[in-house]
Amino acid sequence: LATPELENLGLKSDAPFDVQVIRKDFPILHQKVNGKPLIWLDNAATTQKPQNVIDALSHYYQQDNSNIHRAAHTLAARATDAYEAAREKVQRFLGASSSSEIIFVRGTTEAINLVAQTYGRKNIRAGDEILLSNLEHHANIVPWQMLAQETGAIIKVIPISDNGEVILEEYTRLLGPRTRIVGITQVSNALGTILPVREMTEIAHRHGARVLIDGAQAVSHQPVNVQELNCDFYTLSGHKLFAPNGIGVLYAKREILEDLPPWQGGGSMIRHVTFEKTIYSDPPAKFEAGTPNIADAVGLGAAIDYITRLGMTNIERYEHQLTEYAMQRLAEIPGLRLIGTAPHKVSVLSFLLNDIPVEEVGKRLAQEGIAVRAGHHCAQPTMQRYGITGTVRPSLAFYNTYQEIETLVEVLQTIRFR
Ligand code: PLP
Repeated sequence: LATPELENLGLKSDAPFDVQVIRKDFPILHQKVNGKPLIWLDNAATTQKPQNVIDALSHYYQQDNSNIHRAAHTLAARATDAYEAAREKVQRFLGASSSSEIIFVRGTTEAINLVAQTYGRKNIRAGDEILLSNLEHHANIVPWQMLAQETGAIIKVIPISDNGEVILEEYTRLLGPRTRIVGITQVSNALGTILPVREMTEIAHRHGARVLIDGAQAVSHQPVNVQELNCDFYTLSGHKLFAPNGIGVLYAKREILEDLPPWQGGGSMIRHVTFEKTIYSDPPAKFEAGTPNIADAVGLGAAIDYITRLGMTNIERYEHQLTEYAMQRLAEIPGLRLIGTAPHKVSVLSFLLNDIPVEEVGKRLAQEGIAVRAGHHCAQPTMQRYGITGTVRPSLAFYNTYQEIETLVEVLQTIRFR
């Protein structure tokens, strides 16, 4: 695609879509911040929403709003249909074998807490081992630590190399007869490393351990198929997938869900209640106590429609080129140290600039309209691995452009002279 933008930069790209056309679908991107055009490079924290997602929310509240399942009237039927249609979209998006394997939760954090508190409490005992990588977000550490404190289980950590990859030989060595669960992110939110989760899952299964994959940073950048990965649990957050806040997904294999105790108790998750005993519904309802977040689930379905239309492999291809370009341009800045240079990585560009505090760099970029995250990114153990407390982290999505990377580099060139 020879857009004027690429020609100006002397570049050619075989990008499968026109980014300028796509950007028109994201109203928030067309504003000035501090007098400068907004450059949104904080996509690992949260993504912006296309117009069809915003429209789906307003349509739901204008036309269909009702509680679901219980009432037998027209709007209840519409709301129920819309909610269950969203579940089916997620099922297809993740390649799950049944929509009953898709549980709606608030986000990845809630999904992992659900697994720790149900699967963990039922199956993990004193002396059992929980294996986590050194690349995990706090959401995939703290719930396991809480469980370990409660049960006497032991947490072991899969080390990473200097360029930010898990060391597979060490991983294999850490797995043993007491390993009950392996918790790994598919993509590191702090460094962008893509972990070999399929291979890691296969190795864990040979040792009889279950595997939870945190897909929060993966699903917006590459196609995912949970049956191919053969993982036992998979989690995602809607807001990182161009969908609203407050909606997320836990996927779990059907046979595991059937064997799990419920997490929260209340309405919707029951078949029959007396004061003596409750008979629970089948999954997924068993794990969705109370009135769910119907509108935002519908919004998640709309976001999946949008990115499916663009094509996940197209998105992956474009972002791969853009990330390589950005890594190369950043590496040319004297005094800039990239943290996380694994060959397999997506869209996250973590760095330090001379000895300027990362927050200071973040503020200077913000003054120029450029939104990045500066800090520990809820991955303090990853930062500790490099002996640092934080990084500056621009993170890309398919609506970012080569020109935005150029502007980022230009501004960083001025900051480094301070
Ligand atoms: N896991 C990873 C890899 C993340 O990047 C994040 C969010 O930054 C989370 C988990 C937590 O997601 P949420 O805050 O949406 O629950």
